[in-house]
Amino acid sequence: MALIVQKYGGTSVGSLARIQTVAQKIKTFKEGGAQLVVSVSAMSGETSRMIKLAKEIQDVPSLREMDVLLTTGEQVTIALLSMALQQLGCDAISYTGAQVQIITDSKHGKARIKSIDGHRIRSRLDEGKVVVVAGFQGIDEFGHITTLGRGGSDTTAVALAAALNADECQIYTDVDGVYTTDPNIEPKARKMRSVSYEEMLEMASLGSKVLQIRSVEFASKYQVPLRVLSSMIDKPIGTLITREENIMEQAIISGITHNKDEAKLSLIGVPDKPGIAYKILSPISEANIEVDMIVQSVSAREGLTNFAFTVHRNDFNKAQAILQSTCKKLSAIAVQSDDKVVKVSLVGIGMRSHAGIATQMFGALDKENINIQMIATSEIKISVVIDEKYLELAVRSLHNAFGLDKE
Ligand code: ADP
Ligand code: ASP
Ligand code: MG
Repeated sequence: MALIVQKYGGTSVGSLARIQTVAQKIKTFKEGGAQLVVSVSAMSGETSRMIKLAKEIQDVPSLREMDVLLTTGEQVTIALLSMALQQLGCDAISYTGAQVQIITDSKHGKARIKSIDGHRIRSRLDEGKVVVVAGFQGIDEFGHITTLGRGGSDTTAVALAAALNADECQIYTDVDGVYTTDPNIEPKARKMRSVSYEEMLEMASLGSKVLQIRSVEFASKYQVPLRVLSSMIDKPIGTLITREENIMEQAIISGITHNKDEAKLSLIGVPDKPGIAYKILSPISEANIEVDMIVQSVSAREGLTNFAFTVHRNDFNKAQAILQSTCKKLSAIAVQSDDKVVKVSLVGIGMRSHAGIATQMFGALDKENINIQMIATSEIKISVVIDEKYLELAVRSLHNAFGLDKE
């Protein structure tokens, strides 16, 4: 009998009616003759609501207590979904992450799964039950509750699929698959039938939140066939994320992503000497702030250079304060900061063998008079940082320029 892991995201379980609809789908699926493990998110908006509550009590909420708080969202949905299944006459049982030994490291708020004990789940499956597991959560070796970062239920589902050696992991959400770009920004976005792990990984890490990055890493590492589909329609087909070899026709550009979480900081007029990048970035990394893009310009004036980088907007104020003190230490001229920037990226395996993609991208942005502030490239992606007010315009004009709306 096939073993399938399904995950239902926040919107899909956002109301009691939706939970009941999902329960009906699960029941029908099970009657088709498969063993089912289902992982769910908190009802939509719940996690964000609880983060706000915590911040009203404590300026910088304790990370440990935050995890205790946030995991309650998923605990609500596993119980309600199991009840809805039982009500339909479908035998089901719910488990928290700790109960099925989803062991993680101890990094509260962004823990990584180290192992999952599949024994208990397998026994329940053998009894004919649907096993409902709370997404987004685990427990560390000392018994502390942990969470996997925003969007982490995707990762729970894929990790469960890998641990149980499932035949497929299905991620049910509010869109019917992975599109050439966020369909909420470009209505002409087209659904992809399949996409490689490598491209999906790039898309996820460049801001496409349809799948959490770590879920794609897991799927790729353990070769879990992963499908993204809609929980809102009947008989969805969705998008299969699979190995590059399994994809029939490979487009040059697969997708366009955007990331609104960027903020840019620049140090103007730093002495152009060895060790400058190190001196600027090491206090930033010591403060546990991740740096994304980096640009050092050619000396504008004799012996002086400008150094710019981007960080997550949540870290903007902290990074700005650190850079101010670095500015004094290095006798630089000034700090410039801008948290109204976004990153827009083109992703495609076909770029490896095609020259001129970057030029075409810059040309399309130039045509719309969009100024490029930073550029980063890798084998299969090109990213630019631009003013956030041009986000939609940039995404749509690139989508059009690369003919992504056409089959
Ligand atoms: P869930 O709550 O089910 O986990 P998410 O909101 O995390 O759902 O992810 C689904 C959303 O991802 C979509 O509503 C869509 O706006 C967004 N998204 C961003 N990029 C893409 C893309 N390339 N294809 C499909 N959806 C995308
Ligand atoms: N509930 C968590 C969040 O909102 C995890 C998830 O939905 O995947 O980030
Ligand atoms: Mg999500």
